[in-house]
Amino acid sequence: MNKITTIVFDLDGTLYEDTHHFHYYADLLKNKLTPEKQKAFEKDYLAVGAGKHTLMIGRVYDAEQDLILAHRDGTVTQGWTWTGEEVPKERLANLYAEPLQFDLLNMLSIGDLWWVPVSIAKHYGLSSEEAYHAFLQTREHMMTDDFLLEPLVEFADVLEKLHTKYKLILMTNSPQTDSDVILKKLGFTSYFHDKIFEANKPINTADRLAYISQKHDVPFNQMLSVGDNYINEILPAARLGCKSICIDPNGIFENSEATHTVAGLAELAVTLENWLLK
Ligand SMILES: [Mg+2]
Repeated sequence: MNKITTIVFDLDGTLYEDTHHFHYYADLLKNKLTPEKQKAFEKDYLAVGAGKHTLMIGRVYDAEQDLILAHRDGTVTQGWTWTGEEVPKERLANLYAEPLQFDLLNMLSIGDLWWVPVSIAKHYGLSSEEAYHAFLQTREHMMTDDFLLEPLVEFADVLEKLHTKYKLILMTNSPQTDSDVILKKLGFTSYFHDKIFEANKPINTADRLAYISQKHDVPFNQMLSVGDNYINEILPAARLGCKSICIDPNGIFENSEATHTVAGLAELAVTLENWLLK
């Protein structure tokens, strides 16, 4: 059996599970729309939160076609209009003959809560540039003293123990400046042996993991990838032969390529403890 020696952690939604900032982000996006559209945005955002919208975690928003898609490993299996009417199979087959290629502008994989408000805003006509600006404003807000971030104590204890026995690597799509502040707020600054910022997951996940493998001289089968975004952190790692733990509060990925799925940070702490510290 191959022993894990190196653990690659995502940051947001993985090292902490606060969700206030998503509402802050949603408000910024909403306020860039016209008043009528703000009302519609609000309604959709609440409906998604209540699980009463076709848009949901695990699906895809195609901003160009304004369609919501379900897929299996990139192959479209079902599609809906924004209001939830199913798209005929023939039209789907014409539009999506090839597996989906996700990007950060038009083919949005709703892998975590960052992607919900931005998809809604794009549906109501917000440009990618304005959306990115709101994202940066949110990250800035997260750096201020107004934004309180408390680590989950059980998880912090496990992380502290892990860092003395394993090589821990942070890999996030977020920029270094605000990520470092978040790590500091959580008290995790000294736990990581290496950090990769602006990782451009999922497009570059495999390249980054190959880089880690080379730089730290560790084969893929000794690496564990931990994250809350299946497309970004789990699937590409599993394809390379890494082990993985998917944080999956909605229970979507139980029968997936993830080695383990956990509902949240508390269960993640227990899983890591039992697997790697006993
Ligand atoms: Mg994340």
